[in-house]
Amino acid sequence: MQKNFSLKPYNTFGVDANAEYFVEANSVDELTAALQYAQSQNLPVLFLGGGSNILLTKDFEGVAIQLNLKGISEKILNENEISVTAKSGENWHEFVLYCLNKNYGGLENLSLIPGNVGTSPMQNIGAYGTEIKDVFTECKVLNRKTFEIEVFDLAKCSFGYRDSIFKQEGKDKYVILEVSFKLTTQNHLIKTEYGAIKTELNNLGIENPTIQDVSKAVINIRQSKLPDPKKMGNAGSFFKNPTIPLQQFEKLQQQFENIQGYPNGDSVKVPAGWLIEQCGWKGKQIGNVASHQLQALVIVNATGNATGKEIFDFSTMIIDSVKEKFGIELEREVNIL
Ligand SMILES: Cc1cc2nc3c(=O)[nH]c(=O)nc-3n(C[C@H](O)[C@H](O)[C@H](O)COP(=O)(O)OP(=O)(O)OC[C@H]3O[C@@H](n4cnc5c(N)ncnc54)[C@H](O)[C@@H]3O)c2cc1C
Repeated sequence: MQKNFSLKPYNTFGVDANAEYFVEANSVDELTAALQYAQSQNLPVLFLGGGSNILLTKDFEGVAIQLNLKGISEKILNENEISVTAKSGENWHEFVLYCLNKNYGGLENLSLIPGNVGTSPMQNIGAYGTEIKDVFTECKVLNRKTFEIEVFDLAKCSFGYRDSIFKQEGKDKYVILEVSFKLTTQNHLIKTEYGAIKTELNNLGIENPTIQDVSKAVINIRQSKLPDPKKMGNAGSFFKNPTIPLQQFEKLQQQFENIQGYPNGDSVKVPAGWLIEQCGWKGKQIGNVASHQLQALVIVNATGNATGKEIFDFSTMIIDSVKEKFGIELEREVNIL
């Protein structure tokens, strides 16, 4: 365990904040020991995966635990399906590539999402028409109070849009140890309808795409649109796309005729990036922080010297101006600490 440890390399915003204590947990025993130490000292705990969905607004006065549990195992279910389980410290994209190399289908649309496998259920990661809930079967968690291992199946996880039990009533109660997915070994379901996947496949001259082709297309699109956190600190989409009542959307349509929206029953999901762009934020920089020039939804540490507080304050300015112009309250997707 190290004291006064800089978390700068452990968060993709590249914010320099210290943890009072830092420890890497390579096994459940090491994790349990770290949790017991924190409990005995009455210290709060911060779990770190890849640090790609957190904003550290101040130093952390507690024990930061980097989850480094590794390993992948497989179990054949039937002639068309396999169950693949990865420990929480496995890198998400490397895990997706591992599955693609073995021709296991179901995760290809989720290629190149930063972070670790153990964090994927936290917000039910999603992209290009797929969410992990589509292939998730269960995860093993450590109950932080009883120190017992529990199994959460799909229903128990209460997955929603960028949401799960782990962000709601299960918040701060469990550590995710491993996650299992049911993937296809043949007759893969190829999903190309969403976003620019079809266009990109056309550009690549591919007519009958394999799961590997879909992954390649997704990677190309993401690399052309999203800033690489290694080059410019960011945490991907900073805000969730808000869902508003249909009535409110229709009213807004009268005022802003090109407002975009995706109807879903009695409500409409509005792209947060569009709202932010309409308020003039796209590419705008204040001090060390900016809204990315290609994607307004992504807030970046433009100079590399931004503090978490500066980034947080910038996000508050965006929330205020969207509220003022459209009457819609944006919700942050990134976990604020
Ligand atoms: C460029 C970029 C693009 C992105 N694109 C997408 C996208 O398309 N779709 C999407 O859904 N997300 C996207 N994200 C967000 C992010 O990659 C995901 O949310 C990812 O799952 C975060 O994983 P992590 O390991 O980095 O989480 P961290 O930032 O390390 O942790 C996030 C939260 O989970 C907690 N936590 C971490 N591990 C565990 C665990 N094992 N048990 C319990 N709690 C834990 C942490 O304490 C923290 O509160 C993007 C981020 C970036 C930087």
